[in-house]
Amino acid sequence: MASDTPVRVRFAPSPTGRLHIGGLRTALYNYLFARKHDGDFVLRIEDTDQARYEPGAEEDIREALAWTGLEHDEGPEQGGDYAPYRQSERSGHYHEYAQKLVEAGRAYYAFDTEEELDDLRETHGAYDGSTRRQMRNSLTLSDEEVERLIDESDDYVIRLKVPRQESVQVEDEIRGTVSFDTSEIDDQVLMKSDGMPTYHLANIVDDHLMDISHVIRGEEWLSSTPKHVLMYDALGWEPPAFAHLPLILSPNGGKLSKRDANELGIPVYVTDYREAGYEPDALLNFLALLGWSPGTEEELFGLDDMIDAFSLDRVGASGVQFDLDKLRWVNEHSVRDLSVDALAERARPHVDAVGDEVGDERLRTICGLVQDRIQVVPEVVTDNRYFFEDPEEYEEEGVQKRWTDESADLLLAYADRLEAVDSFDTETVETELRDLADEKDVGAGAIIHPSRLAVSGRSYGPGVFGLLAAVGKEACLRRMRRAVETLG
Ligand code: GLU
Repeated sequence: MASDTPVRVRFAPSPTGRLHIGGLRTALYNYLFARKHDGDFVLRIEDTDQARYEPGAEEDIREALAWTGLEHDEGPEQGGDYAPYRQSERSGHYHEYAQKLVEAGRAYYAFDTEEELDDLRETHGAYDGSTRRQMRNSLTLSDEEVERLIDESDDYVIRLKVPRQESVQVEDEIRGTVSFDTSEIDDQVLMKSDGMPTYHLANIVDDHLMDISHVIRGEEWLSSTPKHVLMYDALGWEPPAFAHLPLILSPNGGKLSKRDANELGIPVYVTDYREAGYEPDALLNFLALLGWSPGTEEELFGLDDMIDAFSLDRVGASGVQFDLDKLRWVNEHSVRDLSVDALAERARPHVDAVGDEVGDERLRTICGLVQDRIQVVPEVVTDNRYFFEDPEEYEEEGVQKRWTDESADLLLAYADRLEAVDSFDTETVETELRDLADEKDVGAGAIIHPSRLAVSGRSYGPGVFGLLAAVGKEACLRRMRRAVETLG
């Protein structure tokens, strides 16, 4: 690729399922690279595999991308100069170039049945030269015979003719030169018997026709790349630059599989992260660091900072381990950066799911109290249920440590005082407590700790006066008196 070629990259998912977290990382790196170089970021839907097509997957992919804010410049919905962007709508191109490859002697028609091929493969491994000689194909049959077979049935494919005893070099921006031995490479099917192209043909034809300058994709595609390089060569096209991103590894070792992720509680699909309450900017920040390093100690990046700092030469080649704690840590910072109003708005559906109605004002108060104590938004509720319902039990360690012989009397006296106040706000609650402590000649802690325990069931949490005020008068009195009954 010449250095003055405009940068055009694509994210080319197959709609075979919802957008995977690894897919989002690929999209992100493409996006960052495009924005960094004032280039174009294209969304192309690779939907030529009818058998694996899943209805709704394309919408899920688009929605997931939209949620993260990774906007593309061209794609199936908004169109663009290179439309259409769905491969199922571009079949004319694939037929044309498959034909060209056959004419150039770089691909051939093959008529064998699956069973015949399986037998051959068993004896020979990859479809090498000797296999080819034993196959019924346009390299071994007469022209008339080939024409007759094409006319007679639809059951034939076009295969790439992979040269033998050669090596193919892939120039990778991340890995340098990677050499492949062609004896390990199958004569890849390019056109299937259903008349649809395989991924390999459609992918390179579109990358070429769409003027894609850099192909940035997961390492799992590296082994396909020598086939692609052979096709570019056969068609007389200059290949794009390639960059294969490192594998995402499981904390248990090995590539992160769906099963492994499920077992470890790692969400697999982007929409699952959204449902689990992660912030899109935190997820992108985390994914940026899953393979790329800025070369500094810096770990928190907004999208614009990432664009500024990103470069392919700081992407590593070796696998990177998925670390959910790190994501939670990054997310914690995003939660802190939210305004209280925004946090309350984000927490609203989670709060509404628990029970009693919580007014906006009160929810904002609660959010203000817990904002720097949570890592993901749903924890406003899941970590702080006492704001919304009476505690069902009392933390044992807290009781041991904080509930003393004088606690019951003090708590009842405090409850009586609170019952008499008109406005149940943070200051009043505090003043009443301190006055009582003076009156009884005890330290404030002697009332603070049992109060917290009674009202929240726990010995830790946000400032106790704010907590009591946010829980509200009626609930506080009820809980204090109940704790005295239960704990004695
Ligand atoms: N359609 C392939 C996928 O699902 C694209 C791979 C590539 O980027 O070439 O990931």
